[in-house]
Amino acid sequence: MNRAKPGQLDLPLRFRQEQAIGRAHLALEGRLVSYTIKRSLRRRAISILVDEEGLRVGAPWDATQTAIERLLRKHAEWVVRKLEEWQVRRTPARHWIDGEPLMLLGESFALKLVPDASVVRLHGAELLVGIAECGAVGVSRHVHEWVHAQALACFKERVEHYRRLLRVHPAPEVHLSSARTRWGSCHSSGRIHLNWRLIQMPVHLIDYVVAHEVAHLLEMNHSQRFWRTVGSLVPDYAARRKALRRDGHQYLLI
Ligand SMILES: [Zn+2]
Repeated sequence: MNRAKPGQLDLPLRFRQEQAIGRAHLALEGRLVSYTIKRSLRRRAISILVDEEGLRVGAPWDATQTAIERLLRKHAEWVVRKLEEWQVRRTPARHWIDGEPLMLLGESFALKLVPDASVVRLHGAELLVGIAECGAVGVSRHVHEWVHAQALACFKERVEHYRRLLRVHPAPEVHLSSARTRWGSCHSSGRIHLNWRLIQMPVHLIDYVVAHEVAHLLEMNHSQRFWRTVGSLVPDYAARRKALRRDGHQYLLI
């Protein structure tokens, strides 16, 4: 029986109003984050928690929405990183078995295990991978090595394409990264890092990220001039940027 105990139905007003729970949203690091706010008379400071239930804010009864949002913005990078970590933890583990789907340049391929251990290649809609001595771990390593090589070759080619258009000299070094929260970065020393997971995306999204980072070789900021430069390479960059923000998390699966 779920009946409340006598007395719980008749709390003094002070206790009845001790807590209030609400939902709110805020754009953080380019994504719309929704969160729970629990206001309490007992709480003295605003607190932030991210766990499997998402983002939760604890706040004093009279804390203003502005103060809450200010704190969330201050810790935006941390909040988004934690949310993404939980999201990744929730994604099903890979087993590296026959038929498992993999994405490459926006297309789906099925993993196909073959006896010859040295094989990793595309064949129609299948990615043939040699069965490794060390089982799933070995298959995973083969696939990752192969995907990384594909990614580096593709990114170098796209960087070179946009670098020529902008007449940037000398050519930047291109490296792969595996950050969970960042698709690309550009260093003032002229190095571009691109997340190998990008190779799973359709080319128009890869190109947006590459053009963005190459434009940083000229403009190390996000000024209007920077966006004009990006627009000169990718006129519909705003739509691609939006699509990346909306769908990007799907490509964090491996
Ligand atoms: Zn940027």
